[in-house]
Amino acid sequence: MNIVMFGPPAAGKGTQAKMLVAKHSLLQFSTGDMLREARVSGTERGRKVSGIMDRGELVSDEIVISLIDEQISLNQDSHGFIFDGFPRTIAQAEALDALMNLYDSQIDLVLSLKVDDSSLVNRITKRFTEEGRADDNPESFKVRLNAYNTQTASLLPYYSSKGKLFEVDGMLSINEVSILINEALNNKSKGLI
Ligand code: ADP
Repeated sequence: MNIVMFGPPAAGKGTQAKMLVAKHSLLQFSTGDMLREARVSGTERGRKVSGIMDRGELVSDEIVISLIDEQISLNQDSHGFIFDGFPRTIAQAEALDALMNLYDSQIDLVLSLKVDDSSLVNRITKRFTEEGRADDNPESFKVRLNAYNTQTASLLPYYSSKGKLFEVDGMLSINEVSILINEALNNKSKGLI
């Protein structure tokens, strides 16, 4: 099964993706993690994206699509993939569909975590104090939220029209959200959703 974890920044996509990986032996592809690794290892790609990420803007479609393309082609023996933080634009979603098609596969389920803006701000303020991630500062976070609303949220109707969207209340506790997600996966594999 191939899953997209969808939602605004700080919705809990990465946390839930990691829990699914542990339970269902899926491979997690986080474009945010891949880009941070590229920065740490000082590659040309890393240098290119550094300022963009710190400001909270989106990295170009070309860069993130090529990262995902590489990973999909290298991991064809996997049980399935969880995409976390990708796609974030319609162009990325179309590229992902084309890539999955190329391997006779498809996106089965898009799990959309719904969290209201004031809770997102509270979560990020807390994380900034605890972990100090550069793009969690209030200015960059505003830009990230704006990027989500203007460029990423349009993927909701894209996936909904394909019957792939499943909404989850991301305001609940981590364990409660995880239970809802596992129910959705079970229902999906039984053909109930
Ligand atoms: P979050 O979802 O919490 O905002 P991520 O770790 O997914 O954080 O992403 C951090 C940053 O990496 C984004 O603000 C953006 O600059 C870049 N990024 C990650 N994924 C993508 C993507 N699919 N398209 C464009 N930029 C991306």
